[in-house]
Amino acid sequence: MRAAGLIVAQALSMLRKMVEPGITTKELDAVAENHIRKSGAYPTFKGYRGFPASICASVNDEVVHGIPSQRKLQEGDIIKIDCGATLNGYVGDAAISVGVGAVSSEVGQLMQTTQESLFKAMEKMVDGNRLHDVSFAVQEYCETRGYSIVREYCGHGIGQRMHEDPQVPNYGIPGTGKRLQVGWVLAVEPMVNLGVQHVKTLADKWTVVTMDGKPSSHFEHTIAVTSDGPVVLTALEDGTVRL
Ligand code: MG
Ligand code: MG
Repeated sequence: MRAAGLIVAQALSMLRKMVEPGITTKELDAVAENHIRKSGAYPTFKGYRGFPASICASVNDEVVHGIPSQRKLQEGDIIKIDCGATLNGYVGDAAISVGVGAVSSEVGQLMQTTQESLFKAMEKMVDGNRLHDVSFAVQEYCETRGYSIVREYCGHGIGQRMHEDPQVPNYGIPGTGKRLQVGWVLAVEPMVNLGVQHVKTLADKWTVVTMDGKPSSHFEHTIAVTSDGPVVLTALEDGTVRL
């Protein structure tokens, strides 16, 4: 899973550097697919329930599952790139939010808070903790800063399939839920809105947008519970706890 996760990390790192005004989300998708296939892996998203691309590219009010297109990114946009790779039967899944050029300070803070909430969740991924300790860490960190948590979509167990049990909501009551054990691997993925929490799906049956049209942010890592603490399997560098 680390090998699969590293390919995802490399793809996202390449895409992050390419994000600039004028580039299309389809161009980003092509680079991701090429890197994944060149690495001997398969782009997990492609064909998943009919999804047509190797990344999800969601811009501004698009929360998740945006389909890469000829849309050109513009200065001030926020793009969420979600990517998965399957290598030797194991899956890595991660997502980043990237500002296009200079973004407003409120969008910058939204992104920073979302990423920090993922760190907070990760710190709870310790043997013996409860699942909703992880969930609550995201919720508390974001809601106390005035943001809202998307409820309709959540993180998930991951392994030989991208989506395995259990579901990992980004909200919950601490001290409840299944007990985490060494060997568990979860994809934790806070989806955090600047405005209302409510979302809807567009007519393409994929793209999820905020109800009020305000921006949304998304970060994700595939994280293992080990006897040495949490290990990020979709980080660029090896190590425990920190990205
Ligand atoms: Mg993902
Ligand atoms: Mg995921």
